[in-house]
Amino acid sequence: MTPRAFAALDDAFDVVIVGGGATGLGAAVDAAARGYKTALIEAVDFAKATSSRSTKLIHGGVRYLAEGDIHLVREALHERSILRRNAPHLVGDLGFICPAYRWYEAPYYYAGLMAYDVLAGSSNFGRSQYLNARQTRERLPALRARGLFGSIRYHDGQFDDTRLAISLARTAIDLGAVVLNYARAVGFERIGDRIAAVRVRDEESGVEVRARARVVVNATGIFTDELRRLDDSSARPLLSLSRGSHIVVPREVFPGDDALLVPRTDDGRVLFIVPWHRHVLIGTTDIAEPAPSLDPVPHADEMEYMLAHASRYLERPVTRSQVTALFCGLRPLVNRAASTTAKLSREHVIETSRSGLVTIAGGKWTTYRKMAEDTIDVAREVGGLAAAPSRTMQLPLHESMLPGTGAALHPNLPYTEDDVAYAARHEMARTVDDVLSRRMRAYFLDVRASAACVPRVGELLARELGRDETWARASSDAYEAIAAPALAALAGG
Ligand SMILES: Cc1cc2nc3c(=O)[nH]c(=O)nc-3n(C[C@H](O)[C@H](O)[C@H](O)COP(=O)(O)OP(=O)(O)OC[C@H]3O[C@@H](n4cnc5c(N)ncnc54)[C@H](O)[C@@H]3O)c2cc1C
Repeated sequence: MTPRAFAALDDAFDVVIVGGGATGLGAAVDAAARGYKTALIEAVDFAKATSSRSTKLIHGGVRYLAEGDIHLVREALHERSILRRNAPHLVGDLGFICPAYRWYEAPYYYAGLMAYDVLAGSSNFGRSQYLNARQTRERLPALRARGLFGSIRYHDGQFDDTRLAISLARTAIDLGAVVLNYARAVGFERIGDRIAAVRVRDEESGVEVRARARVVVNATGIFTDELRRLDDSSARPLLSLSRGSHIVVPREVFPGDDALLVPRTDDGRVLFIVPWHRHVLIGTTDIAEPAPSLDPVPHADEMEYMLAHASRYLERPVTRSQVTALFCGLRPLVNRAASTTAKLSREHVIETSRSGLVTIAGGKWTTYRKMAEDTIDVAREVGGLAAAPSRTMQLPLHESMLPGTGAALHPNLPYTEDDVAYAARHEMARTVDDVLSRRMRAYFLDVRASAACVPRVGELLARELGRDETWARASSDAYEAIAAPALAALAGG
């Protein structure tokens, strides 16, 4: 049976971080690496919200380049190279083809992508180059040949978002931090008008403890405003949300080792078609979303939008029947007008409330390390902690192990029964959803295959966690409820 260290939260910490997505986990690593006594609490599972639903790119952002946001692109490209150095097992170099179907597009894209190379400087992953139509099609045989002049091929980074999240959690633990999922912040306790402790509820047992803290960091992503209101009921909203959806198809639909960048959609965005884990990811959209949700569902018309836009660039249209998974995430976007006290950067914001709650919001996965460093710099001042510089620039991240050997769970998935045990023993997986969605990527790759694995995963996980059949059935039912909307959408419902 795998023990759970919830009682370890009943202690006095230098820093307590609320939220176990990219931002909070990064902050926990930064704080623990400085020698601060650190705890991180996650209400559900690590990366359950936005951090498992990205396009899986570690990138400077060619879109920002087109918008002239040079500083942001340079910073992200710098972070890209730091991350590849510190987590080479998780971040790789990927070639991106930007196709030109009009004669003037190739020089235009070439100039832009040369600028991207220059901004990357010595940390560049590889030089951009012009490919003629034949060379382009050799790399991407499914690309539409009619009217193709050529393309520019540039380099960017690719990763697995939840595997990086787990690696960060384990790195923080290696550095002495207490890191727990299914531990929700439900209130603050004060001394005078300053926050002195977080009330934390164990979501499995209902037990509550007080985690005392010199400083508390709010890294709750799309739930940022909820936690801010727990501190100050009159806090004005800092965030607005935007939904971004993806569809996933088998690799055969789009063979080749490179990704495709569709530089302009009808609504003026870019669309990526990216090889990932023997599948291909197509995305994304950008639609205002009124409220945060843990399991947002793509709308039917978004699937049609992505199928239609991708098909314009393919020899054979991609159809709904080929889609194996679809998912969406909510972007936490900072309302710049909302905070006057905030220290603003282009993409993320760090705000300190009157009671000393340090809120970090916005940003992207690529820049999580820099955001964490900035946040802990502020937290150090607010908490009056001993000065200690950030060490994360040169800090290798914990290497993860999945997938392992053993009986295959499903012929369409690269995971084995041993991976279930590994996830429970070493990666704090507590539910069938944790295993299938975020230790493995089954939900995100092939949702039907993932559903077929449910009873066996439930059984194996129950055995590992010392639970009974009733628990296994309840955890399996919970996963089936999460997968149901995606299954219905694929069935045309
Ligand atoms: C569609 C899409 C595509 C993207 N693609 C990319 C990409 O390719 N590259 C890139 O660099 N970035 C990308 N991003 C951005 C990136 O995914 C996000 O910036 C990042 O994941 C945000 O992480 P976070 O930790 O701030 O938030 P989250 O991941 O949402 O984490 C917040 C956590 O706080 C927890 N929480 C909430 N309330 C409480 C509480 N009371 N107690 C304890 N815990 C609590 C939640 O359960 C959640 O797990 C993309 C975003 C979207 C939406």
